[in-house]
Amino acid sequence: MQQTFTRGRWLGSMARTIYAQQVQRACIFCGSSPGARPAYTEAAEDLGMLLVQNGITLVFGGATVGLMGRIADTVVSEGGEAIGVIPQALVDREIAHLGLTDLHVVDTMHERKQRMADLSDAFVALPGGLGTLDELFEIYTWGQLGMHRKPIGLMNVEGYFDGLVGFLEHAVAERFVREDHRDMLIIEEEPTPMLERLQSFDPASLTPKWIDRQDV
Ligand code: AMP
Repeated sequence: MQQTFTRGRWLGSMARTIYAQQVQRACIFCGSSPGARPAYTEAAEDLGMLLVQNGITLVFGGATVGLMGRIADTVVSEGGEAIGVIPQALVDREIAHLGLTDLHVVDTMHERKQRMADLSDAFVALPGGLGTLDELFEIYTWGQLGMHRKPIGLMNVEGYFDGLVGFLEHAVAERFVREDHRDMLIIEEEPTPMLERLQSFDPASLTPKWIDRQDV
């Protein structure tokens, strides 16, 4: 029994190595405000540092305001690469960041989300407001439908997303969300375990929603 368990664990780690995909560009969704707690800004800075230390390019909303500005400034000042994607209409309102490796100015919000998705091979939401939630859920639902097979993380800094995590639990219990689709969302409080889980994510573990239609 003991041997089987050990071998299973060994095979598990082999499988993770085989499927491991190197994250090269991570899209970070986050607030255009700094939020009420210093921990939110600290999380943006820590995540930015970690991206640079791991040679990962930041893809984000291209603004200087709020947590977006904080993570971008951190990446730039640490010598990393940052790509912003901002709609023309927000260039003045959210004050486009002019110190980036690249700034894509697009026509619409939809184009912004699509461009950020195309440029990135992983997504993480830091604390934020309606825009952050919209961006997170759009990419989450695209994943649920099998339109991409990229990892998606939720940084639950100081429990900011506890209510959302609880609601997803409720949606599973009420049979509107499948458990494996809820489990697609990688939830961590700290950047380092988050990055480890993004890096070892196995795209083969995803079940596109349409496959299960007969189960209902
Ligand atoms: P918030 O979390 O509301 O502070 O917004 C974070 C970022 O999301 C800001 O850059 C917003 O412009 C952006 N945002 C808001 N709504 C959308 C949308 N529908 N599509 C793309 N980005 C959005």
